[in-house]
Amino acid sequence: MQIEHSELEMPFGDPLPLLSIDSGRPGPCVVVTANIHGDEATGVGVVHNLARCLPDLILRGSVVMYPTLNPAGLASCERVLPSDGQDLNRLFPGRPRGPASERHAHAVWNDVTARCPDVLIDLHTDAAGAIPYAIIDRVLRVRERRKLNLRCAKLAAASGLTVLREYPRDRYVRYHLDRSLPGAIVNHCGIPAVTLEVGPRRRLDSVSVAIGTEAALGILSSVGVVNMPARPDPAFKGGGPWRRESGPRTNHTGVLVPQVRPGDTLERGTPIAEVRTIQGDVLEELKARSIGFVVALPERTHVVPGVSCATVAVRDR
Ligand SMILES: [Zn+2]
Repeated sequence: MQIEHSELEMPFGDPLPLLSIDSGRPGPCVVVTANIHGDEATGVGVVHNLARCLPDLILRGSVVMYPTLNPAGLASCERVLPSDGQDLNRLFPGRPRGPASERHAHAVWNDVTARCPDVLIDLHTDAAGAIPYAIIDRVLRVRERRKLNLRCAKLAAASGLTVLREYPRDRYVRYHLDRSLPGAIVNHCGIPAVTLEVGPRRRLDSVSVAIGTEAALGILSSVGVVNMPARPDPAFKGGGPWRRESGPRTNHTGVLVPQVRPGDTLERGTPIAEVRTIQGDVLEELKARSIGFVVALPERTHVVPGVSCATVAVRDR
């Protein structure tokens, strides 16, 4: 068995590279997508690692991998599609006509769904100051909601990473997360999906790539494609269900000085950050509103009013 290389022609711009492997034995088709946010690099390295190890590891089924869904964004180190500045991961299933990003998303959507995947793994990164985590979408579909929820949760747990549910339903829809690639795969197609958020943006970090690779192999193991179950990540947080939440927001302009680190436990009232003047005088102290833990810290120091001082995990219901 070896990795096959192919390309997906796009409406304009460079074709998307594809790497695939078929075990020749019946089993699930798993699609792995990376780098739709062009500044989120870890997934590119994870796909390379998978391409190297899958010929020796694959037991059944097939794996189709897209090392980048946004080559122009990778080249210019931008989250968005550079030609029109839109976030591709809020546009699925896209449209055959209209702005470049809509057509780009539509071409990706058609190719992914034509493969009739049983599982989708979408690879992202949050921030340099973040614990690695797996995120599960909100299932908006009424039909088979419970079953689909369970299947998504099982995939996420198999990553060995801390599992977070997405924002509550109203914000999930308001932020167009149902139109992210995994969100649309779950909610349009009823296919389970999981998003992995691992590593810093912009550069490949070898430890983060190894964590992402182990997590992806763990998910592939849970559906029997390989047999390499993931160990629990050293930063793993149990005791959920947890959901992703924005931390308290700043009320002042100044310098953001975190008082916690990613992974730190929060009680109600735990100081998360101070906003100080540049001379060091404290303008405000931002405190946790409920129990949970710190997921990620923002990649900025100068803040204006309205900036969330951290991404936190809080109990979901
Ligand atoms: Zn992303």
